[in-house]
Amino acid sequence: MNSDRRAVLIAGLAATVAGRTDSAAADDGPLLRSGEERLPPLHGTLCLDDEARTAAAEDFGHIVQRMPEGVLRPGSNEDVATIVRWAGNLRRKIAPMGQRHSVYGRAQVRDGIVIDMASLRAVHEMRNDRIVVGAGAKWSEVLAATLPHGLTPPVLTDYLELSVGGTLAVGGIGGTTKRYGMQSDNVLELDVVTGRGETVTCSPLGNKGLYDMVRAGLGQVGIVTRATLKLIPAPQKVRRYLLTYRDLATLLKDQRLLAAENRFDAVQGSILPAPAGWTFRLDAACYFSGDSPPDDNSLLGGLSDDRSAATVSTLAYFDYLNRLAALERLLRSNGQWFYPHPWLTTFVGDSKVESVVSAELDRLTPKDLGTFGQVVLSAFYRPAAGSPLLQLPAGDLLYAFNLVRLPTTGTVIEVDRLVKANRAVYERVRAAGGTLYPVSAFPMSRDDWRRHFGSAWMQFCDAKQNFDPEHILTPGYEIF
Ligand SMILES: Cc1cc2nc3c(=O)[nH]c(=O)nc-3n(C[C@H](O)[C@H](O)[C@H](O)COP(=O)(O)OP(=O)(O)OC[C@H]3O[C@@H](n4cnc5c(N)ncnc54)[C@H](O)[C@@H]3O)c2cc1C
Repeated sequence: MNSDRRAVLIAGLAATVAGRTDSAAADDGPLLRSGEERLPPLHGTLCLDDEARTAAAEDFGHIVQRMPEGVLRPGSNEDVATIVRWAGNLRRKIAPMGQRHSVYGRAQVRDGIVIDMASLRAVHEMRNDRIVVGAGAKWSEVLAATLPHGLTPPVLTDYLELSVGGTLAVGGIGGTTKRYGMQSDNVLELDVVTGRGETVTCSPLGNKGLYDMVRAGLGQVGIVTRATLKLIPAPQKVRRYLLTYRDLATLLKDQRLLAAENRFDAVQGSILPAPAGWTFRLDAACYFSGDSPPDDNSLLGGLSDDRSAATVSTLAYFDYLNRLAALERLLRSNGQWFYPHPWLTTFVGDSKVESVVSAELDRLTPKDLGTFGQVVLSAFYRPAAGSPLLQLPAGDLLYAFNLVRLPTTGTVIEVDRLVKANRAVYERVRAAGGTLYPVSAFPMSRDDWRRHFGSAWMQFCDAKQNFDPEHILTPGYEIF
């Protein structure tokens, strides 16, 4: 029994048989359509029941729904390769699904097969500088394995319940990106099933072409089954400073100052709707171990925040990383977690950030963001060893500029309005030299994608032709 399969069974994750489900035990594999080639036998389970298919037809965005023909819960990495080869023969589409936190159907596939990567979430190996995990593992599960050993991935997304494969497919930005780059810049090796159904191990040292097209490659050339992630020593605690600013210019002044220094380990900016306009906030974190917290005065020296409004606290490292959990609980309890989430995520260069953001703030109304919605505005420097497919604006100092919209209604008219508004904001950001972080809710045409990838487009097309010539992988982005 291979280690993936053993780990799946140990974790009690063996898929349940439901509805018209065929299972691995059969000598012949499942038959999807009469007269068609049967699937080869699988270690895992192909679920054809309504419950599994309906779940895979939805995501966190609740805007796009596409019903797949079946959902594979793979029992091994070989299952992924097997189904991809089978789909290639029949020109059937395949989409890997992480935690379904896409906001615009990117992990969905109409009439094809969704691969539920959560079945491949085992921790395989850990050393003091790396961990090898199944790509379906959530970042919270990675931390559960590493923190008892005093280790952590260098970059973590604000929300830890995303899958490793799902964030590597887009890049993965977090509070420490200003120091370490994206999550996709901190991956040492990947096992990938290409669109040809071949399993290839790639890294900066071998098969680098594939490695570069998989990271931030939107699942277009391969499905990551296993990832070797870089680890660094974890701090025990975090001194956290929530600072308030009188206006955008002052918030940006301090973001520039802090981006140029290593005073804090993580810095994130946000702009929140307030009764009298906007509240400008900086969330700055200094990591430490032992009993002596860093000196507040020296950390806050020279900053231009409204000091009387500053909040300072000390948290355990994991509690700081898990800071979105409280908001999730709140949004689940008031129902907003389950409404549509027409989010927009972009990158803007420093030279245009003030004009772009202030113009958008003038246009935005509290209703456009919804209760607890916010604008994210966080500075970071262009990563030294960037993932080639991640499209960033020109210049060194850049900002993540996101509209985290949390509507309090699911009405089609309102969602449609916000999706159209996203398009308009994107056009203005692009006109100012900004780029899209492709975890956004609005449709992109092939021409949009060509423009988005710019000089990387031809290389991306060549990689698609080379690794997924039948164009079966991850159709939800509508690129190829
Ligand atoms: C509450 C919330 C907070 C977020 N915070 C951040 C943040 O701080 N930083 C950030 O960068 N992003 C953030 N995001 C965006 C998030 O990183 C992306 O939407 C991510 O793609 C979702 O991961 P997932 O595991 O849910 O993947 P899914 O939504 O299931 O899949 C996303 C895409 O990746 C593909 N994919 C999934 N697994 C694999 C695989 N193994 N191999 C190849 N392709 C694969 C899918 O086909 C799909 O196209 C956030 C999203 C939400 C909803």
